[in-house]
Amino acid sequence: MGNRPQRIRELDPYVAQRIAAGEVIDRPQAIIRELLDNSIDAGSTTIDVYLEQGGISSIKVIDDGIGMSQDDISICYKSHTTSKITTIDDLYSIRTLGFRGEALSSIAACSKLRIISTYEKEPTYTVSILDGKAEGPYESGHAKGTTIEINDLFYSIPGRRKFLKSPQAETAACKKMFIEKSLMYPEIQFRFFSNGNLNLFLPKNHQVGRIIDAYPARKFNSVFLHTVGESAGDFSLRLICSDPSIYRNDRTYIQIYVNNRRIDDYSLVQAVQYGYTEYLPGGCFPYCFVSINIDPELVDFNIHPAKREVKLRRGKEIHHQIVETIKHFLYQDHKKVIQDSQAVQKSWNFSDTPVTRDISNNQQSFSTKPTYHPSSRDFSYQRTSIPSPNHNWINEAKEIFTPQDKTQVEIPERSSYDFFYHGQLFGVFLIVEKEESLFLIDQHAAHEKVIYKELSEHVHSQPLLVPIEFDVTEDVGRHISTHLESYQALGIRLEPVSENLRNWELIALPNYARSIEQDIITFIQEEVGSPEEITRSLFATISCRAAIKEGDVIDDQTANELISKVLELELPRCPHGRPVWKEITREELYRAVRRLI
Ligand code: ADP
Ligand code: MG
Repeated sequence: MGNRPQRIRELDPYVAQRIAAGEVIDRPQAIIRELLDNSIDAGSTTIDVYLEQGGISSIKVIDDGIGMSQDDISICYKSHTTSKITTIDDLYSIRTLGFRGEALSSIAACSKLRIISTYEKEPTYTVSILDGKAEGPYESGHAKGTTIEINDLFYSIPGRRKFLKSPQAETAACKKMFIEKSLMYPEIQFRFFSNGNLNLFLPKNHQVGRIIDAYPARKFNSVFLHTVGESAGDFSLRLICSDPSIYRNDRTYIQIYVNNRRIDDYSLVQAVQYGYTEYLPGGCFPYCFVSINIDPELVDFNIHPAKREVKLRRGKEIHHQIVETIKHFLYQDHKKVIQDSQAVQKSWNFSDTPVTRDISNNQQSFSTKPTYHPSSRDFSYQRTSIPSPNHNWINEAKEIFTPQDKTQVEIPERSSYDFFYHGQLFGVFLIVEKEESLFLIDQHAAHEKVIYKELSEHVHSQPLLVPIEFDVTEDVGRHISTHLESYQALGIRLEPVSENLRNWELIALPNYARSIEQDIITFIQEEVGSPEEITRSLFATISCRAAIKEGDVIDDQTANELISKVLELELPRCPHGRPVWKEITREELYRAVRRLI
């Protein structure tokens, strides 16, 4: 035994440090992250970032923050040196972005580092670190704040240098980080220079203004970005979210910040999507910047080297609150739009000649609101008298828009509907006239929404003759096992086949889902939402599969029934968020052909 050669050696501290540095600093972007954190923590009001060659040849960050004294500057670049915490308990009350005391030492281990800093009225000191050895601090003139200069990144770790991308790609990554850091600090002015040119200037602004400035290419308009907030005990939420009229087909702009730090948290991103489900079609994603402010005791950032992931103790409530805040905001906003358009319509009607014809005997033919009297120019009531529509849109249209002498108008026949169906257009749209408007109703979206509504009202489950077995990932398996009751409430009965919860059997399904078992299984395999979200997305999936499709011919009776249900909807959007119809008012049509109203 004693003769065996010793194989384990203690690493040279400088080598060890270079290895450890790789965890924190993997590319220039990580340096930008760490230096901006430090400048923000130092209470700066302006911060400038200079990059050369994507930061590979040089990075400089200049701030006007509190600075460091001669004593501080002589140790700040050493391992585990920080002014931000003292005891382990401090970790749970931390309000600063930094706390590990390893950024500057890691940077020093993998580049040529120079720190120039001034504390209050003291002289400015400079220290340079090369190959683990410091030169300084020595006095060097006077400038407010701190400047950190980094040259020749990874000169000491050529292996890592090889993994760097092109200077353009590294610049883009740095800029992305720069923007993320700046978004939650609109009170700080930021500038980003690349190869000597000012690439992005973010003057002090309010929160929405900062977002608009940070993404000039997006041409955001403050009209489309709304700020909504919610405070719930030990956390508060502020959301800057977009109007459903603007959206993207990726999730780039659904960003989650916890205590001003951007994090990756798929479940909270999903919360935003759930909030928008009834307003945005599948595959369309909103712009939404979620800022969560939470008691530091309830959040642990110390689980990821780049602090990109967190443990949130109130995760579920936050998730729920995000969904509700967005839904509430969108619903209020939508109601406002409807009210506005009604206001326009009303004012138009009231300015019209008062009604002269007595319609009181015919009230039963109209299911109009009692306060509303059709004006002498109202044709919709005359149209209800035409027996069966001949589906000739052009002729019908001609008739509709040919003013008739009201004295010749027959008294309308009794009709069970308060609208008139004119037929189908392009195999997709149901053409409907109601009161002062023409509605082009998307038959698929409409049917989908109606099924969705009916599903939400009744569910009957039936056992399958042969249960269907399927696999899921571990996460989904756990999710199913905690939401078995929610599935059961929807008529879906599931049983685990294996102990690790990765194999399941589908045992019973509601009638309406019998022909689409496979879609239901796919749905279960992907869903990880809360009970309400499961319900909403499942109904959306089923109603979409079961609904009348584009191009399907439907008979008048079916069309009329569908239309009457659809026109009663409080929220005329399909379960995926698409609008169900396009409404064109008579006023708009008249205006389009320059006809006097
Ligand atoms: P941490 O930020 O985790 O404390 P760092 O290695 O990033 O660790 O920085 C070490 C210390 O150096 C900080 O705690 C802070 O006191 C000081 N420091 C770093 N950058 C600045 C700066 N720009 N302005 C003032 N002090 C700074
Ligand atoms: Mg730091």
